[in-house]
Amino acid sequence: MHLTRGCFIFSFIYGSSGRVAPRVFSIIIARANGPEMQIILLHPRFTQARSLTLTLRHGLLALSLLLVLVLGSAALMTFLTLTHVGDIRLPWVQKMLDAGNQGEAARNDRYVRENIAAMAMKLGEMQAQLMRLDALGERVQGLSGVKPEEFNFKELPGRGGAEPSTSRAAPPPLGISQFQQALDALVVDIEHRSDYMNAVETTLMFDKIRSKLLPTIQPVNVTYNASGFGWRLDPFTGRSTFHEGIDFPAPTGTPIIAAAGGVVIAAEFHPQFGNMLEIDHGNEIVTRYAHASRLLMKVGDIVQRGQHVADIGTTGRSTGAHLHFEVLVKGVQQDPHKFLIAGSGQGSVPQQTRK
Ligand SMILES: [Zn+2]
Repeated sequence: MHLTRGCFIFSFIYGSSGRVAPRVFSIIIARANGPEMQIILLHPRFTQARSLTLTLRHGLLALSLLLVLVLGSAALMTFLTLTHVGDIRLPWVQKMLDAGNQGEAARNDRYVRENIAAMAMKLGEMQAQLMRLDALGERVQGLSGVKPEEFNFKELPGRGGAEPSTSRAAPPPLGISQFQQALDALVVDIEHRSDYMNAVETTLMFDKIRSKLLPTIQPVNVTYNASGFGWRLDPFTGRSTFHEGIDFPAPTGTPIIAAAGGVVIAAEFHPQFGNMLEIDHGNEIVTRYAHASRLLMKVGDIVQRGQHVADIGTTGRSTGAHLHFEVLVKGVQQDPHKFLIAGSGQGSVPQQTRK
């Protein structure tokens, strides 16, 4: 190799055997204009020197090709190593892969444990809420009159299983199986309470409907009734007759309200009762409102408990403005007081706003 002013000259001498004269093959690499490079090839067989010019672009292209080649072979190596690792069993490859697997397993394990801890905390909160619900349930139980022995909170299936709120702090962290166990127990607990709450709801609902349909609110907002239920002297004949209702004297036009919800089955003028209204409350209970000056309802109307249905008057066989009020069970007059006493404390007029 010769070096002459920025030129590299590579000369190869070969073929020097016997009679044949040795041949010289030379490559001259010379810098041309700027970054360009000129390569000149000299060989005895060539009639003239061959030259080619390499620009920067050629250089970059060659470099890229080299890079692609290196990366491609590396990728191929990796692919072959990983796909045939089972057959190859190279100790170092095996070790590397094991370390990778162990790292991943440890990460997964940590992830699962962290998740279980978070879920266990949630489970603990749910159990605390369930206990609050228990307390509420016991109070409601007392109100509804559902027998406590029907639902014993103290002897629940699954109670006393894994309690995440306590075992979470214990050294062995909660495992998946324990967590599942605790969750199953909680589901059973919730189902049990759900059944219980449904029973209480049904009881309360029935009570509510019954109290709504029983004529327990006073039909006129007065505290005094002149004539009670039972034997009395008839004001017209002077003879002793049975008074089959109670009378509420009040000025004409005073509102009469329904003693319970129901359906109007009579709204008519009666020779004795005058303008009369009858409301059917179901269970063969009917209330009768007599001597009204005005009826606000017609047959078939649905009446709410406490609804304004008529106005006080003195129509029919009456000596003065009052409401004659009857409660009939299976067509037989009952003492309305029995019902009104049952509803005492509910008031009368304030009930109008409550449905
Ligand atoms: Zn009367």
